[in-house]
Amino acid sequence: LTLSEEDRQGRNCFVAWCEAAGCRVTVDRLGNIFALRPGKAPDLPPIAAGSHLDTQPHGGRFDGVFGVLAALEVLRTLEDHGFRTEAPVAAVVWTNEEGARFAPSMMGSAVFAGILDLADALTTTDRGGVSVSDALEAIGYSGSAPCGGRVLGTFFEAHIEQGPLLESEGKTIGIVTGAQGMTWLEVTVTGQDAHAGTTPVDLRRDALLGAARMVDAVHGIAVHHGPEARATVGVINALPGSPNTVPGAARFSVDMRHPASATLERMVEDLRARCQRIGGKLDLETRVEQVEYTAPVSFDAGCIESIRSASDLLGYESMEIGSGAGHDACHIARVAPTGMIFVPCAAGISHNEEESADPADLEAGCNVLLHAVLERAL
Ligand SMILES: [Zn+2]
Repeated sequence: LTLSEEDRQGRNCFVAWCEAAGCRVTVDRLGNIFALRPGKAPDLPPIAAGSHLDTQPHGGRFDGVFGVLAALEVLRTLEDHGFRTEAPVAAVVWTNEEGARFAPSMMGSAVFAGILDLADALTTTDRGGVSVSDALEAIGYSGSAPCGGRVLGTFFEAHIEQGPLLESEGKTIGIVTGAQGMTWLEVTVTGQDAHAGTTPVDLRRDALLGAARMVDAVHGIAVHHGPEARATVGVINALPGSPNTVPGAARFSVDMRHPASATLERMVEDLRARCQRIGGKLDLETRVEQVEYTAPVSFDAGCIESIRSASDLLGYESMEIGSGAGHDACHIARVAPTGMIFVPCAAGISHNEEESADPADLEAGCNVLLHAVLERAL
């Protein structure tokens, strides 16, 4: 978990390895780590690569860690060959990508990119009441460098796919074109509590019955908007929660995703319209509230080309792919030209101790990262 004793040990290990590879390491106020290998032109902004070292309560050991070690491997390879690039090259570790202990996820990159206030991040507490600020102090990673305002020439993130597509298509490298947009909504349905035995069904204002039909409509929205659309109801509550009372109130969550913001907006409009129509027929009041929105991300065309040409040069089978999950790269894309490299993971399983990846695929991802970095740092 982020900012735990284990995180401290992992970070110390990374820092020691980077220093041994001739890098200068700085830590910013949110604990983001930057290991810089000087270039011939010190004024050029660094070409950076990295990911995160934290994980979920049950692992796994590739999500994030692979991207950090891939960046370290690039630095080591340059050092082993005594190769000096024009631009400096940096390996980066972003703090608290997972959000498993402190919300929101992708915290370090969000503050770096100016999406989240540093003060808000530092005062965020975990379930035990410990703040991010105190946890950073406790593990010795409350750095002095400002978080953000640092120009990156490019940022690349190598990552396991966390899905099944590369494996099922038999491809080694995923050239990530972008990440889908996501919105969270909360639907509140209000009817009237009534006696389950005495109230005829046609006279009821059953909020849960309305909610049930709306849940089906949510699924219908995803089907209607094509194979890239996602719509999920993950939480539902009915009140008063008694077996012999017709529920007078119901509330449920909706998570909707799509790579195109226009389609995602149409899905939200669709949800509002369908819920109103269903509620109207059952004499229910329906309120649809949008509680979170993350815009879709398109990665930089130049970075995508660098990854594609590196993969072609090395003779790997590749395909373009969208990211279903959020990544630090999605935030950094707002402040620097950014690209992502995916490699397959076994059966697409992630956020799980079973998470696994083929060493040959991981090596291929490192090689593509090296050549993409070189193309931009030369
Ligand atoms: Zn990750």
